[in-house]
Amino acid sequence: MNTPVNENFIKDDVLPFAKYIPSPHFNERPANTLIDLLVVHCISLPAGQFNTPHVNDLFLGQLNCQAHPSFVDLADLRVSAHLVIWRDGLITQYVPFSKRAWHAGLSAFDGRSGCNDFSVGIELEGCDNLSYTENQYHSLVKATAWLRQKYPNITSDKIVGHSDIAPGRKTDPGPAFDWQKFKTLLEAENDNTQFDDSGSFRTTT
Ligand SMILES: [Zn+2]
Repeated sequence: MNTPVNENFIKDDVLPFAKYIPSPHFNERPANTLIDLLVVHCISLPAGQFNTPHVNDLFLGQLNCQAHPSFVDLADLRVSAHLVIWRDGLITQYVPFSKRAWHAGLSAFDGRSGCNDFSVGIELEGCDNLSYTENQYHSLVKATAWLRQKYPNITSDKIVGHSDIAPGRKTDPGPAFDWQKFKTLLEAENDNTQFDDSGSFRTTT
């Protein structure tokens, strides 16, 4: 079903149901870039530990690399994502969608390299081999549905994992991420969701 396009949220560059914390880790996308790829990642710091402040600190350029032995490798690493979806389903946005976040690194999709140029990056707080939470799937579906109204060229085949665009180098979001479940929920969401004037969701009956 086609849903009406609301000019207010099209102009909006931040997810209306995310907490926005601006990261310094971004730059401009190349001129006239068509945003047509969504990349799903996972991250946890230290690996496998959740509800720590460290992911937020990393994306803000404030990580104390002395806080854990594994963080030594992260010194001087300047990375970000547009969104992080935490274990409880809450969403933090670090980079406006029109800007280029630094999440994909060396990457290619369908013959095009440098996926940061033309993609939106979403991190799930998690790790490759541990089930993601129901709240995370729910929020990922809501965020993706919103993004697909803003960027209709993000078709289903252009929603991929980091492992798909950096094979051999990256494994996230890993085998624990249930793509079938996500895409099934997403299709159902597309059929019954509209946005009201504030950009909030409203589910039709
Ligand atoms: Zn990743």
